[in-house]
Amino acid sequence: MAASKSDYERICRESCSNRRARCWLTTTPKEKQRLMSNQQFAVAIRTRLNLMPFANMPKGCICKNAAKLDDLSRPSHPHCCTKTKGPGVTTRHNTITQTLASLVRAAGLTPAVELRELPTADSSEKSKEPSRRPDIMIWSAAETLLVDVTVLHPLARSHMRTGIVPAMAARAKKKRDRYAELAKCYSGRVVPFVLDALVC
Ligand SMILES: [Zn+2]
Repeated sequence: MAASKSDYERICRESCSNRRARCWLTTTPKEKQRLMSNQQFAVAIRTRLNLMPFANMPKGCICKNAAKLDDLSRPSHPHCCTKTKGPGVTTRHNTITQTLASLVRAAGLTPAVELRELPTADSSEKSKEPSRRPDIMIWSAAETLLVDVTVLHPLARSHMRTGIVPAMAARAKKKRDRYAELAKCYSGRVVPFVLDALVC
């Protein structure tokens, strides 16, 4: 059964009422990592209000699920469409990863972003599972952190069924399980960085 407009509004309200959802609106832009251009700010506000990301977007989608798109009809669809979201999702993921890494640098640590090959305890060996690489490795005197970024959209059909909070918890667990072996190699800790797309 298709979700009603009130379902969308309820879910948007739930996401936006999270106590951390307004942090980006109240953070003083003292460093360049915290600055937003006018266009970025406009897209973020439109997303928060569940409007189309841009006012001049196409009024339909190539998939069979959304022949009509506008601010009143499935405005979140461009964020969730399995046919068209690929490049945008990759750009969003990479932007968040790079911003997070720059904040880690600002904190005086050295992040390694998307290492092609991870060193092992025995440097003559290669990692047994090169595809299992977290987005960021942070080595410090205190501990090693394996950080992996995920963004979930609460209006995606699969997350509407479960609710965004359980979906985020499940994704965080999946990340911890995925990198558990690797974390053990480095005596490190997996830090899933899971965000709600409506409010991040
Ligand atoms: Zn679509």
